[in-house]
Order: sequence, then structure tokens, then C-alpha cells
Amino acid sequence: MPKELLIQVAPEIASNEEMLKVHVSKLLHVSVSEIQHLTILKRSIDARQRAIKINLKLLVFYQGDEVQLDKITLPEYKDVSNAAEVIVVGAGPAGLFAALQLVELGLRPIVIERGKDVRGRRRDLKAINRDHIVDEDSNYCFGEGGAGTYSDGKLYTRSKKRGDVDRILRLLVAFGATPDILVEAHPHIGTNKLPQIIQDIREKIIEHGGKVLFETRVSDILIKNNEVQGIVTQHNDVIEAKKIILATGHSARDIFELLDRKKVLIEAKPFALGVRAEHPQSLIDSIQYSCDFRGEFLPPAPYSIVKQVNGRGMYSFCMCPGGVIAPCATSPGEVVTNGWSPSKRDQATANSGIVVELKLEDFKPFAKFGALAGMEFQKAIEQKAWHLAGETQKVPAQRLVDFTQSKVSATIPKTSYVPGTTSVELGQVFPGFLTQIMREGFVQFGKSMRGYYTNDAILHAPESRTSSPVRIPRDHETLEHLQIKGLYPCGEGAGYAGGIISAAIDGEKCAIKCAESLK
Ligand code: FAD
Repeated sequence: MPKELLIQVAPEIASNEEMLKVHVSKLLHVSVSEIQHLTILKRSIDARQRAIKINLKLLVFYQGDEVQLDKITLPEYKDVSNAAEVIVVGAGPAGLFAALQLVELGLRPIVIERGKDVRGRRRDLKAINRDHIVDEDSNYCFGEGGAGTYSDGKLYTRSKKRGDVDRILRLLVAFGATPDILVEAHPHIGTNKLPQIIQDIREKIIEHGGKVLFETRVSDILIKNNEVQGIVTQHNDVIEAKKIILATGHSARDIFELLDRKKVLIEAKPFALGVRAEHPQSLIDSIQYSCDFRGEFLPPAPYSIVKQVNGRGMYSFCMCPGGVIAPCATSPGEVVTNGWSPSKRDQATANSGIVVELKLEDFKPFAKFGALAGMEFQKAIEQKAWHLAGETQKVPAQRLVDFTQSKVSATIPKTSYVPGTTSVELGQVFPGFLTQIMREGFVQFGKSMRGYYTNDAILHAPESRTSSPVRIPRDHETLEHLQIKGLYPCGEGAGYAGGIISAAIDGEKCAIKCAESLK
């Protein structure tokens, strides 16, 4: 009988199969030759002590045991060419996983995506980085794969529903992600690996009869007697359907404006906003691993930190070890930061959003915008930052200690943010209460993570697209919009997800509810 075993080992043992076998054989008081195979079920790092350990959950197969390897295959997708059609707006994780699920359930998804396919998108990303040109339909947030495509591809989520998370992870593996994501405590894929996976998902949808339209922006939703009838594209083409899964993400401001104009119920939603901090990765390694040099067996260290300042949470968000800060604006006239990293996380810098939770009352100066007040608050800060940094895709930047002391930095070194930075006192970018909280919070961070509070860290502003500033309310049971029949607000933009995995899970849930209502 195979035996389950929980152990802690040194990093060099965890990364060497032979050494691990020897270690396990000693623990179990058997000879190495009696151990046929080790399967790693879970892996995490324990960096609480000076000597860092790797926690492993293993399945030990002895000689004579039948080694059962976990075979990961795709579901049996049906041919849906002639099936009932469902419009899916947006090809982010929510839209793509909704479409896959629809195919699995025998329905035909028509996926409508304003941006280009994942390869075509690259040219537009180059244009933002090099020429400061932002295409409003194809950028770091818009295009096939959605906002998560050129990201760190972190795949952890606060969702407690392990079954739902595992299903998405297994689908990703079936589409080409490394099986390691099934065992790592903090799995990630990386920007270099995600595009192929996304392309394969799209090809599978098409192979089974689904349709995917790129460079097609939904400009109107047709509604009659409080029931959806279809959509209109920017070319004035009408596509009819009685079911629409609306998965347009947190940056589709035109969709929020459209719904508001059409008097379809939406609500302002609190989100979080702040800066993106960049430190040398070696510094973060030395703080997190309590060592001078990480060595070859440990990955670049992540960090996660939260403090309460003046009654508000200030916390790290979407931390990218060995990563790069990306220009994530979706319109000209604004700047926005976020972060990505390659699968090896081998860049010299570590970046993280450091954000403060906002409350609905913070949006009061924008009250005349009603449900769009939070979105206008967000937009105003992004536009101000654009203006202060010189009206290109350069962002305002300041050294960390200088920021806490309201001092304009005399110099800003080159950072990973390719379009460049302009030295600005960041207190000018944010409302006073936010600046105050961040100034105090960073000093507190330095007390918990010794070395973090340093002028070698560069703050970039703003980090503003942490989650949707709007919620599109839906019925808890049917997942349909509270007023509009056949409309399924879905994913991060509607306020029901906060990352790649939770968006994908929500996409599947909406597809299932759609299918149930069509029965
Ligand atoms: P989105 O991914 O935003 O997709 C929405 C899609 O709808 C887009 O493709 C858009 O083009 C399309 N669309 C919008 N309006 C229209 C319209 N009118 N007509 C047609 N199509 C439209 N999350 C993680 O979990 N891990 C990470 O490591 C991570 N890193 C990130 C790094 C970056 C740089 C960014 C920007 C985000 C990152 N995120 C990460 C967040 C993650 O990408 C999002 O939470 C996730 O993509 C949300 O999925 P979604 O499908 O709900 O929306």
C-alpha cells in the first residue's frame, strides 16, 4: 500500500529526487531500493526559521505497489455547431472558461472580444512601452486572455472551494500548464507560458463548433421588456441571443457607462488604490529568507504584508517576484501600473502593488456620477498622474523614504517600467488622506520587514485597477441580473472575482446557470 507522508526537508533535498528517496528511506527505516516511486502531492516553503525548509506531502510507493499516476485529460467536449447560442462578451479568464463550459454542456458560445488575438496583441504592447501609444481596444488589459495574459500568472485565490479551484488548475494543465501548479502552495504560470495555453483554449472552442470574434467591441446591448435580445458591435452589426454572459473585466468603462445610460442597475463598489513599489529582488530575498544570497534551490522570494493604518487596511497586492512593472492604461491620457513576471521570475527586481482600501464615502466628490463615482475617482487619479509625469506613458515616481518625508527625489534610477519615470512628489497624485495613510504605512512595513523601508525602493503611481469600481448586481441563485433576464454579469468586472482563478470559476458558474435556464 502506498503511504502518505508529511516531511520537512532542506531545499537541496527537495529538488533532487535521489536525495529525497534516501531521506525518505531513512525516515521510514527501509532501504532505498524498497522505495519504488515518490509522488509529490503538495509543496510549500517554510521560511519562518533561519534554516529554510520545504514542506512536502508525499505518496510513497514501495516495490510491488501499483504506481497510479494522475492522468489529466480534457473533458469530452461536444460538437455544438448547431446548438443553442449564448453570447459571451470578453475573452478573459471568465469569458474563456464560460465558453469552454458551455461547449462541455452542449451549448454554442459566441465569444466577442474587443481586442486582438493573443499574438496580435504583442505589437500593441510594444507600442505602449516604446512609443507611448495606447490602443483603446488592445493593451495589457484588453485582448485575448484578458488582463491576466501578460501577468505573473499567479494562480492562488482566497476561494475556499478547493474542488472548483482544482478543476480550473487541472484544465490549465490539460491545456499545457506545468503539472507543478497542482502541488505548489503558491502556483504561477508566467507571461511566457500563458499565451500558448490561451490560444489552445480558443482553438478547442472553435474546433467543437464555438465562434470567437476578435476586434469586435460590444457597443450596445439590446433589451426588450427587461430581457436581453442580443448585442450591437462597433460596426453596427447585430448578433441576437437570449443569453449573454457579460465578462468584460474591471477596465471596461464604456460598458459601465452603457449600462448606466440604459438605466440597467449597477452600483458603486469600493476597491483599493495606491502605488507599485519596486525593490531589488536580492533585498527581498535577504529579508524573506534571512540570508545574504538565496542560492540555487530557493525561488525568488515573494512577500505579503498588511497593516491597519487610521482604520484602513494597507496591503501588498499582486506581488511579482523577479518581475517587471507594466503600463496598464486602457485609454490615452491616463497612466496605470501593474506587474508581470516570466515563469522563471528571473528579473533583478521585485514589484508589488501597495494599496489602501477605499470606502464608498471617499467617492463623495464624484457623487454626481452616481454609480460611476468610484470609477470617476479612479480615472481622475490616473489622469492626474499622466499629467504630472509629462503626458506620455511615463509614470510619476519617488524613492520610498523621500515619499514618507514629502521630498521630491533628486534622482530616480532606471526601473523595470519600460516607458520611464518622472520624479514627482507622489503626494500630488493622491487625495491627502490616502497619501497620509501610505506615508505611515510604509514606515510600519519597515518595522515588520527590516530592510524594506529604504530609498533604494522606487514607488510608481498609480496602482489603481485592483478590482472593479462597479458591481453589476445579480441574483444569488440564478446569477442573472436583478432586473434584466438573460443577462449574466460575470467575472471581475461585475464584482464577482478578483484574479485569474476566481474569474475562471465564475465563468463556469455563469455558464452552468445559463445552461440550466435553457433546459
Ligand atoms: P478580464 O481579464 O479583464 O477580461 C475582460 C475581457 O473583456 C478583456 O479581454 C477585454 O478586452 C474584453 N472586453 C472589455 N470590454 C469589451 C467590449 N465592450 N466588447 C468586447 N470585449 C470587451 N490575477 C491573478 O490571479 N494573478 C496574477 O498574477 C495577475 N497578474 C496581473 C497582472 C496584470 C498586468 C494585470 C493587468 C492583471 C493581473 N491579474 C492577475 C488580474 C487578472 O488578470 C484579472 O483578475 C482577471 O483577468 C479577470 O478576469 P475577467 O475575465 O473577469 O476579466
